[in-house]
Amino acid sequence: MIYLDNSATTKPYDEVIEYMDDIQRNHWGNPSSAHRLGIDAEKIIKSSSELVARELHTEKENIIFTSCGTEANNMALVQKFFNKDKFNEREIIISEIEHPAISRPCKYYEQQGVKVSKIPVDNKGLIDIEQLKSLITDRTATISVMYVNNEVGTIQPIKEISKIVGDLPESKSNNLVFHTDAVQAFGKIPIDLSSSELSKVDMLTISAHKIHGPKGMGALYARRPEKYKSFIIGGGQQAGLRSGTENVAGMAGFGLAASIHCENMNDKMKQVGKLRNLLMNGFKDSISDVRVNSPEDISVSGEAGKCVPHILSISFAGTKGEVILHSLEEKGIYVSTEAACSSKKHSGSPVLSAMGLNSDEMEGTLRFSLSEFSTEDEILYTIEETKKAVEKMRKLTKFRR
Ligand code: PLP
Repeated sequence: MIYLDNSATTKPYDEVIEYMDDIQRNHWGNPSSAHRLGIDAEKIIKSSSELVARELHTEKENIIFTSCGTEANNMALVQKFFNKDKFNEREIIISEIEHPAISRPCKYYEQQGVKVSKIPVDNKGLIDIEQLKSLITDRTATISVMYVNNEVGTIQPIKEISKIVGDLPESKSNNLVFHTDAVQAFGKIPIDLSSSELSKVDMLTISAHKIHGPKGMGALYARRPEKYKSFIIGGGQQAGLRSGTENVAGMAGFGLAASIHCENMNDKMKQVGKLRNLLMNGFKDSISDVRVNSPEDISVSGEAGKCVPHILSISFAGTKGEVILHSLEEKGIYVSTEAACSSKKHSGSPVLSAMGLNSDEMEGTLRFSLSEFSTEDEILYTIEETKKAVEKMRKLTKFRR
């Protein structure tokens, strides 16, 4: 089986599964006393938040574990919107290509009277930074722009936005929340929250399953946890930042996955990027009428406007992505159409549409996700089988250019 779909990037490391299993069995399955159990849990939670914090260059006090990236995104968005009376006084700025975990809550706020402005993107999914500047007003309460887009892999200019926020009058910049959804960036490109370039990022979302950690675990970084408000109120766990009994094994798995994934990240991502380019060039050289939707150049250092090494979005003109996907599945190759981590209940990708693709191009689009486990042989086989599937479909539909 060749996994170039969501499972390529989300299969947990064996070490993570073993560690979580050990915690479940030996730490609470048979506890010697309730007191011991509490001490063990506390130690595990502390060391897990330290491991995650280390990879973001921050402190454990700034990490709030959540049930997933979606929850962390919602937590960031709600910060300025606890008070309904303020809804028609406050505005949100997001990009046109956010994940539904941002775009849908924003739709809800919009329905409640909040003005939501969307920054347009170019044909490679890069936001227009000048448009962003022009959208900021005295009423701007939240800016949320994803670090890396999940469908096409474009790296957004988060450092530039941090600078723009920093250049606002202090009374303004201190009062707004600048959040970035870094679910597709964490573990793939360096994120140094201690650097001056990112000093105005107030909140940042990550998710464990994108780095071979457990599914159902996320985290929100909060630069000023003392200012942070939670909508989950109860027993005061996680220093009162998110109440509720902690998912201790999940946190442990997240911490371990972060430290394994980020070790030698640069070298691993260079290798992933090499294979991604092999795949892209293989398609371009052997199949006619392909459109590379992702930026063609990759960046392992996180340069804005380029692509992360693990994502490739391609449209094969005159085909239906869904049909090619099934043909490949029969050959043991798993790929995705559209956003692999949403429930796919809608037709057409808002991301590709915002990038200017027409409905035929959108329909013929596939997303390939690579990981450190991808191999050259898998890529060569995938190119060959995709070529056959595309040609067969085009012949059946008498595709002509
Ligand atoms: N944001 C982005 C960019 C994503 O790709 C995803 C999908 O996994 C999410 C948010 C949602 O994260 P989670 O699945 O942990 O809720």
